[in-house]
Amino acid sequence: MAKTHNLGFPRIGAKRELKFGQEAYWKGQSSRDALKALGASLRLRHWQDQAALDLTPVGDFSFYDQVLDMSFTLGNLPARVKDFHGDVLDNYFRVARGRSAAHADTHAECCGGVAAGEMTKWFDTNYHYIVPEFVADTTFALDASRLVEQLAEARAARVRAKPVIVGPLTYLWLGKTKDDSDRLALLSRLLPVYVELLTTLAAQGVEWVQIDEPILVTELDAGWREAFETAYAALAAAPVKCLLATYFGELQDNLPLACRLPVDGLHIDAINARNEVAAVIAALPADKVVSLGVVDGRNIWKSDLNAVLDWLTPVAGQLGERLWIAPSCSLLHVPVDLESESKLDAEIRSWLAFARQKLAEVDVLARAINDGRDAVAAELAANAAAIASRRASPRVHNPAVKAAVENLDAALGRRQHPYAQRAPKQAAKLKLPRYPTTTIGSFPQTAEIRNARSQFKSGELDHAGYVAAMQREIERSVREQEALGLDVLVHGEAERNDMVEYFGEQLEGYAFSQFGWVQSYGSRCVKPPIMFGDIRRPKAMTVAWILYAQSLTSKPMKGMLTGPVTILNWSFVRDDQPRAVSCLQLALAMREEVLDLERAGVRVIQIDEAALREGLPLRRAQWQHYLDWAVQAFRITANGVQDDTQIHTHMCYSEFNDILGAIADMDADVITIETSRSDMELLDAFDSFQYPNDIGPGVYDIHSPNIPTQEHMVKLMRLAAERIPAQRLWVNPDCGLKTRQWAEVIPALQNMVAAAKTLRAQ
Ligand code: GLN
Ligand code: ZN
Repeated sequence: MAKTHNLGFPRIGAKRELKFGQEAYWKGQSSRDALKALGASLRLRHWQDQAALDLTPVGDFSFYDQVLDMSFTLGNLPARVKDFHGDVLDNYFRVARGRSAAHADTHAECCGGVAAGEMTKWFDTNYHYIVPEFVADTTFALDASRLVEQLAEARAARVRAKPVIVGPLTYLWLGKTKDDSDRLALLSRLLPVYVELLTTLAAQGVEWVQIDEPILVTELDAGWREAFETAYAALAAAPVKCLLATYFGELQDNLPLACRLPVDGLHIDAINARNEVAAVIAALPADKVVSLGVVDGRNIWKSDLNAVLDWLTPVAGQLGERLWIAPSCSLLHVPVDLESESKLDAEIRSWLAFARQKLAEVDVLARAINDGRDAVAAELAANAAAIASRRASPRVHNPAVKAAVENLDAALGRRQHPYAQRAPKQAAKLKLPRYPTTTIGSFPQTAEIRNARSQFKSGELDHAGYVAAMQREIERSVREQEALGLDVLVHGEAERNDMVEYFGEQLEGYAFSQFGWVQSYGSRCVKPPIMFGDIRRPKAMTVAWILYAQSLTSKPMKGMLTGPVTILNWSFVRDDQPRAVSCLQLALAMREEVLDLERAGVRVIQIDEAALREGLPLRRAQWQHYLDWAVQAFRITANGVQDDTQIHTHMCYSEFNDILGAIADMDADVITIETSRSDMELLDAFDSFQYPNDIGPGVYDIHSPNIPTQEHMVKLMRLAAERIPAQRLWVNPDCGLKTRQWAEVIPALQNMVAAAKTLRAQ
């Protein structure tokens, strides 16, 4: 009999209950006990949702982040919070976000706010974890209370619990040393704590523990591989069975290592590494469990269950009792429940599966394997009908769009002339001063904007009224920018709820859920639009707003678009064609918008690629392929314009040392990037690579409420001018200003414009 299990369940709740609970607590509107009770009720409900499984994950619930949970379990707290006097949960929030609830702080004088822990992306997902901090003399001490308490809850609820923990190597790998010491050197101090943890879990009556080591799908050097051998030899001493879980990719050269570690079972992502399953089975000793992740835990499409069974049935015959069936990875990365989506088009809805539906698929697969396909004939027939409907739907397939991508002409991605010849033509037309000033696109999302949007949604405000409200906001932005004396203006993006959803809503081939939320970090959730079909732009999307803004000023107004790679990376995308093809379809649609803006007289057009870097594959060997099509997609979008139209792009990060060549290949006339927090990193990048076009290194950290001084910004620009010729430098903030208040933005931009004037005077 094959067993079923799950690697992790989304913790936010089908209606984002956790988010509202966290925020109410932080704002002082509810008590710590209420928040803890909410956590317990969510755990219980999610275990009930998983009741059909043979083994249910415990410990996957988190009040903020599972890596931070692990830091607390291992007693690895940053020195700045070690002496905290209050409740552990408050200290936990202090590490996560700099402060807990003000009302919870009975020790405000000694234990107030601290620097928040650094946050970064969990592998190639859009989930952010809190980076563990290490120094050479970091020590560890077990605090298993969270897991022990949750196991007691699970026992009371008669849940067949399988605790989930982050493995020791992945934990070290995800962390950073603050003193340049070697984090792998901490392993010998870390392992006894893991052994103690496993022993504690065994004492709770646990049979299996899931140990997540996703770094096994990345390139590991000899030191890390050796550390795996050492670590798992040590953990084998604990009186519990270990399921080593890998996901998100292929093991490749780590396959023999993963198969010989002394654990009791191995989980393989059979969506992304199906071609390795045979080799894994051949390499694993015959007494070990093979857990196959056969349902995609990263996407929202129904599995083709009959096709999975055609493949899985012989494998199951070979493995017998040793086979476990699961989703490919934790379901953290998909929304909770499709049942809530009453407004979604019925046909499209029939193609989808969220977390609860994915577990139902796992159950059907296991019953088909264990009892024969006849036992689930009705489920399989319904699934086959949904798969066939999606495959054949005319809403998915647009032959003209497919043909356009197949017949792409390389000339589409080339500007008429190189930058050196374009730049003087643009200068003659735009007549900008040296060190031109601009902003990244959005201005504060005011209460007026939010009210107008919600009234428009509810029908209280008609279309004309909504347009008028947005135009008032645009006018306000333009007036403020003129008063500030900025050189290249923006319309402020008042009409955009989100930089990806806004375009998805206007493109054919996209659908939207109402509750399809996925945790991004802490209480922040995103609702990625669903790209289900070939992409077409029925009509211009932004031209009227930009022309309205331009009509209010004689200064150049920047057209503002989101690039194809970012739209792709922040959507749920099709699994029936390569990502590259989907991206090129988006590129052709966005190119039409660029050309429409140009025809309408817009002289400067910005195409944001905020998410280009996070799409990089986990293995470096695959980077070039990704960068090739991503850069091609950007070039197709941007490069159809005349020499004297100026193309800008924006990226929200500064660590692109590794990919600066690819970014230069995009051939944007101007790039604006995030640098104000890390001026040295920018300089490092320019040591090894001369960026050839104009660049605006952000000098105003928009993620902070602080107002940067003129002197500070002058200093940052001078550092930049040591590496980049002054005639190619722009002065701008790090990113868009939508999350800030006007009261912060105005003085900050006043200082920024003054800084540019100071620089020009020299
Ligand atoms: N133009 C967008 C804005 O200003 C860019 C946001 C981003 O890069 N994340 O809001
Ligand atoms: Zn940005």
